[in-house]
Amino acid sequence: MSLIKKLIQLNLILITIVSPLLSSYVDANSSQKSDAELREERLGLYLKAEAITLIPWYYIAAVDQYERNIQQVRKDIPKSTGLSSIYFSSSFWHGELNPAEEDSSLDSIRFFNGHGQDGDGDGNASVRNDEDILYTMAHYLESYGQTEDDFKIALWDYYRNDKAVNQVLAIAQTYQHFRSIDLTKKAFPLPLFHDYTYRSTWGDRRGWGGRRIHEGTDIFASYGVPVRSTAYGVIEVMGWNKYGGWRVGIRDIHNNYHYYAHLSGFNKEVKEGMVVEPGVVLGYVGSSGYGKPGTSGKFPPHLHYGVYKFNGRTEWAYDPYPSLRAWERYERKQKKRG
Ligand SMILES: [Zn+2]
Repeated sequence: MSLIKKLIQLNLILITIVSPLLSSYVDANSSQKSDAELREERLGLYLKAEAITLIPWYYIAAVDQYERNIQQVRKDIPKSTGLSSIYFSSSFWHGELNPAEEDSSLDSIRFFNGHGQDGDGDGNASVRNDEDILYTMAHYLESYGQTEDDFKIALWDYYRNDKAVNQVLAIAQTYQHFRSIDLTKKAFPLPLFHDYTYRSTWGDRRGWGGRRIHEGTDIFASYGVPVRSTAYGVIEVMGWNKYGGWRVGIRDIHNNYHYYAHLSGFNKEVKEGMVVEPGVVLGYVGSSGYGKPGTSGKFPPHLHYGVYKFNGRTEWAYDPYPSLRAWERYERKQKKRG
């Protein structure tokens, strides 16, 4: 046997010995798992919480995703280390007057009117156990009932913020519509085969429309070029706005509000309240805006695309230019592959 063959064999033996160790290491450390694997495990937990409470899995999933979104942009909330991102205050979980901050005893949590529940059946309500966390949220929601209106009231009592309720609901409707939480696809807002130009203009003074800085990217193209949704989400507004003209606003599952302005008209198939996926045509490039309904032609046709992030308290604009470049590159690559 040649030396090379021997080395290859030795290698194979090593791989078979080491790989089970590697995979158990991967299991023990969730940060080593792919996002798709994490989503699959999460879905399993949501379905389990649904099975024991009759609260639809997409309501539980939506609260979890909302909390994950705000943790990514807030410094005052601890970042979760488990599969679920729902963060409970100590007073909610353990009870307002409970002196024991690490209390996981069901009896004393109940005594102090805490909401912590035991989801995995080990007799404890641990604020760090994914199944206990998700069951606690599902159990709280269940105490209001199972309809969408009940869900809204439960959310309002929990967050005391209309925008938060609206955002969680948009996530829930999107999950429910696609029967999935695996919604990662994105799209460039214009079909790539049309002629268009855009550049980074974040913070530039507006050429039109007053003194505010320019919050978005202008993509110049001809009248009538289709404008498509970039993300999965719910159409929150659709109609006339004095500045944006015919415009559409879509709330996605990552606490982003996508704003498409100055359209010449809408896709007649698309309505306010509808759930859409990336690539769905919303309307067409135009030059509407800066006047009474129907005013247009005050500037060259273009799509104004803006993105706003909600952190649970406020919403602010951030520069969509890097994302636009990334989506454009990605679609080009996909097209080449065929
Ligand atoms: Zn603009």
